Amino acid sequence: MATGTADERRTVYRTCPLCEATCGLELTVEGERVTRVRGDREDVLSGGYLCPKGVALGELHHDPDRLRAPLVRDGDGLREASWEEAFERVAAGLAPFLAENPRRALGIYVGNPNVHNLGGALFLRPLLKALATRHLYTASTVDQMPKHVASGLMFGDPAALPVPDVDRCDYLLMLGANPWESNGSLWTAPDLPRRLRALRRRGGRLVVVDPRRTRTAEHADLHLAIRPGSDAPWLLALAHVIVDEGLARPGRLADFSEGLDGLAARLAAFTPEAVAAQCDIDAATTRAVARELAAASRAAVYARIGTHANPFGTLAAWATELLNLLTGNLDREGGVMFPRAPHDRPDDGEPGGRGFTTGRWRSRVSAHPEVMGELPVAALAEEIETPGEGQLRALITIAGNPVLSTPAGARLDRALAGLDFMVSVDIYLNETTRHADVILPPPSPLERSHYDYFFMRFAVRSVANYSPAVFASDAPGEAAILMRLALIARGAAAGADPRTIEQENLRGLVEREVGRPGSAIHGCAVDDILARIDGADACERVIDFLLRTGPWGDGFASDSPGLSLATLRAHPHGIDFGPMQPRLPGRLRTPSGRIELASALIDGELSRARAVLAEPSRDGALLLIGRREFHSNNSWLHNLPSLIERPERCTLRMHAADAARLGLADGALARVRSAAGEVEVPLEIHAEMRPGVVSLPHGYGHRYAGTRLARATAHAGVSANDLVVGSVDGPSGNAVLNGVPVTVAPA
Ligand code: SF4
Repeated sequence: MATGTADERRTVYRTCPLCEATCGLELTVEGERVTRVRGDREDVLSGGYLCPKGVALGELHHDPDRLRAPLVRDGDGLREASWEEAFERVAAGLAPFLAENPRRALGIYVGNPNVHNLGGALFLRPLLKALATRHLYTASTVDQMPKHVASGLMFGDPAALPVPDVDRCDYLLMLGANPWESNGSLWTAPDLPRRLRALRRRGGRLVVVDPRRTRTAEHADLHLAIRPGSDAPWLLALAHVIVDEGLARPGRLADFSEGLDGLAARLAAFTPEAVAAQCDIDAATTRAVARELAAASRAAVYARIGTHANPFGTLAAWATELLNLLTGNLDREGGVMFPRAPHDRPDDGEPGGRGFTTGRWRSRVSAHPEVMGELPVAALAEEIETPGEGQLRALITIAGNPVLSTPAGARLDRALAGLDFMVSVDIYLNETTRHADVILPPPSPLERSHYDYFFMRFAVRSVANYSPAVFASDAPGEAAILMRLALIARGAAAGADPRTIEQENLRGLVEREVGRPGSAIHGCAVDDILARIDGADACERVIDFLLRTGPWGDGFASDSPGLSLATLRAHPHGIDFGPMQPRLPGRLRTPSGRIELASALIDGELSRARAVLAEPSRDGALLLIGRREFHSNNSWLHNLPSLIERPERCTLRMHAADAARLGLADGALARVRSAAGEVEVPLEIHAEMRPGVVSLPHGYGHRYAGTRLARATAHAGVSANDLVVGSVDGPSGNAVLNGVPVTVAPA
C-alpha cells in the first residue's frame, strides 16, 4: 500500500467488497482521492464487469458522514472520543453482563457487510467464543438460513452449498432471484447478464419463476409469475412429475444417496393439479417444465431469497437440491457443483461426519430452535422487551442496521432504546447505531487489504485474488477491533494487546493442519511453520497460511511454484485455477457418508405443506414482496450521491388493474397497511407486477432523528420491514419477508 502526494497519480487494482460478485476494479487515485473507478478488464473472474455500486466505492471512502473516530455517549448525545477512551467505556459498560454466569443478558447482532470484510470474516469467531452467549443474531435469518438447513440435512454440512455451473449449463431454472440487477447470491459469478445471454446463445434455455417480471425474467425464455410464498409446493410438484413419470436419472448419485425409494409416497400429494391454485401455475405448464428439466442434458435449479424468505423456505431449499439430484445434475459439470476456494482444506479421508442438528437451545420468549448457533433475528425485539430471567439487556452490533433490515423494524427501534448498554462496530451513525453507547468505526474498505474469504467459496471458478490497501489508516482495523472486544469479553484490560488473540488463532490453525494426515505440512514443527508465515498484519498471515496449505498451495516447500500470498501479490488481476470439479461423495459430512433425503424435520414440513394445500384459496388479499435494485445494496450505501440522488426509487409498485380497482393513480401517495404497521409511499403503476402482488424495495426508511446520514435522510423512503410481522420459517428461523398480506388505499 502506498500513500500518494497531492499530484501523484496511480492505478490500483482491487476486488470490489460490496457484493458477492467480487468484481475486479481498476481505480485511478490522484493524491488522496479516488478519481475514477472502472472494471478491471484483466480480472480473471469478472473480466471488466462492474455495476454502479462499484463505481461508487470512492464516494464511500470520501463520504463526509463516514465515521473516522469513535463516538461515545455523553448525556443524550454522542461525541468523538479517542480509541483508548472508547474501549475503556466498552469494558466498563459490558462488565456487569460479562460477570454473569451464564451470560444470558448479553447478545450480538452481525450484519451482512461483515462477510465482505476479511477482518470481520476471520476474527468474529474469537469474539463469539469469548462472549459465550446464546443470543447470536445475524442477517442470515433474513436471507439464506433455509439453504444452510437443507444442506446440513442432505449433505451433513450447512456450508456445503452447490452453485449453478452457469458457463457450462444448458437449462437453468431460477426462482426468487434477479441476478440481472443484483448479481448472484450464494453464487459468485460476476456479470451474470453476460453469462445468461451466453447460455441462451448456445441454445440453452432460461426459465425464471418470480411473482415479478424482473429484468432477469425479461431475458428468459419463459417467465412464470408464481404466487408469492408457493415456491415449495411448486418445486415439489416438479419432483412429483419426475418421479411419477419415471424421468428420474440420478446416475452415480444413486450409489451414495439414501431415501430415494420412499420419495414417491412422500411427494404423492404434490401433483401439478393439486398445487395449481396455490401457485397460480396451471398443471400443464408445471408438467412441461418438469419434463424439459428432466430431459435437458446439463441443467441446474437455482432458488434464492424470494423462495427462502417465506413460510416454507427450508422445504423450498430442500426441494431445489432434490430436483438437482433426481435429474442427475448435482455435482456434475453444467449442473450445480460445490465450489472449491484456494484457501479451502482438501477433501481427504472418507465421506461422512457428525452431521447436522438444530435446536441445541431455544429462544426464551417464542422457543425458536437454535440453528448454526443463531436465533432468528425476527425474535430480537421480543428478547429485549420481555422481562424475566435471561432478558437481553446489552447488545453488540457489528456492521449492521437491523432497524431497517429486519422484521418489525420500528418495534426493534423502540426495543433498542431500552437496552442498558450497546456497542456498535460500524462506519456509520445510522438508524441502529444511534442507540449505541459507543461506536467503534473501522477504516473504509479502501484502507484495508482484501481477500474474499467467504465468496470464493461460492465462485463458479476456483480463483484467488488479493488486494492491498489503497490508503493508509492509523485507526485499528476490523480485525484489531474484534480482537480487542474479544479480550474485553475474556476479562482482560481495555488496553490489552490484540496480538494475543492473533497468535493463539494462528497457532491453533497451524496445529490443526500439521495434525491432518493429508496435509502437505503433516508432522512439521509448529514453530517452524509459524516463523515462515508471510504477512503484514493478522489477516494477511492467516490468508498466507491457508493458501499455502490449500489445494494449490506451495505447502511451505521452498522450491514449490505453488500458491502463497506473495504469489497473489504478483498477480494483481488474480489467478484462475479452473472450473469447478466434482466433489461427491468426499464432500459429504452426514453420519452415513451418503446424501440423506429422509429426515424427521423435512417430513414435518411436507406434512405442513400438505395441510396448506387443503386450505381454501385466499384470493383477494394483496401480497407484499421485496425488490432488489441495481443501484442499491441493503441500507448502508444509501448515503452515496451517485446511488441515491436519482429519481425516487422507494415506490410501491402495483399492477394497473389493482390500481384502478383501488382508485389509485400513478405517483399518488398510497397508504399500505399490514398487521405490523403502516407506511405511506408513492405509488408506481408498473407492468412488471402481476395482479394481486405489490412490491417495495429493501433498506429504506431513513426517517429517524439522531443519525448522521445526510443524503440518505434526504431520500428517506419507507421501510418495508415496518410492514413485516415477524413470523418465521420454522426449521431455519428465517423471517417471512415475502407474501405479507397488506391493504392499500389512497393516503
Ligand atoms: S456487482 Fe457487486 S462486486 Fe461487482 S461492482 Fe457491483 S457491487 Fe461491486
